[in-house]
Amino acid sequence: DGRPTLFEVTVTRIADGAMLAFADQTSQGQAEQIRREFVSNVTHELRTPLTALMGFIETLRGPARNDAEARERFLNIMEREAGRMNRLVGDLLSLSRVESGERKRPSQTVDIVQICRQALETITPSARDAGVRLELDADKTVQAKVSGDSDQLVQVFNNLIENAVKYGGAGGLVRIQVRPVAHEPVLRGPAWQVDVIDQGEGIEALHLPRLTERFYRVDSHRSRKEGGTGLGLAIVKHIINRHRGRLRIESEIGKGSRFSVFLPQAPVN
Ligand code: ADP
Repeated sequence: DGRPTLFEVTVTRIADGAMLAFADQTSQGQAEQIRREFVSNVTHELRTPLTALMGFIETLRGPARNDAEARERFLNIMEREAGRMNRLVGDLLSLSRVESGERKRPSQTVDIVQICRQALETITPSARDAGVRLELDADKTVQAKVSGDSDQLVQVFNNLIENAVKYGGAGGLVRIQVRPVAHEPVLRGPAWQVDVIDQGEGIEALHLPRLTERFYRVDSHRSRKEGGTGLGLAIVKHIINRHRGRLRIESEIGKGSRFSVFLPQAPVN
């Protein structure tokens, strides 16, 4: 019907008790199954680049030994693969750190616009290389305070903006919009809404509910080519959970995607 497809990832603002009750509902068997799948995914993700690296080392020792052009080409591929493994290990560490602290509420007060600026700074060079313009739309006169862990929140917007550039950059513009919401119904209170909007090709509805699963990709080949680990949105989801916020994903094929982060407002002193 032409309306964008929408997917709500998580409903939070549940008391710790409620979260425990939810955890209890995952049977031991299910938890074990999830753990096994995760280990098998990690193994696969690490082994693929390792196998490639070992193959190239062998080729460099043997057939390509005296071929300067081939050597250069292979070393470039090896560098890329090693870089991806490195990012994967980094992402796995972040994920486990966030998960282990998930029940502890962050206590710093941070300005969400500052956080977005920091993330934008990091991504500006690669966006420029990709020919994508980044735009921040926020009211400079208000302080957008949330209770949060600033490193983790920067990571949320890093991941979302990076994805918007990587997968949604075709439109040439990625917009970040920050605005207050007087009463956010799911969080049941005042919130800050940060939208990361791209004008790319969009995401098919069937993928939306699974996008934040670890290692879920719409197009594995493309993700790998872009150096993706498949963990970016899983990390985003866990960090937002930890901040008692929620993530909403809307997308329309041919028009682009909008990832909206809602975080409870902290009082401004
Ligand atoms: P990856 O490391 O593959 O980028 P993510 O968890 O960050 O992993 O994202 C999962 C998948 O979601 C990506 O592989 C991509 O297919 C899809 N995706 C994420 N953001 C966007 C976007 N802005 N537009 C289109 N597809 C996206």
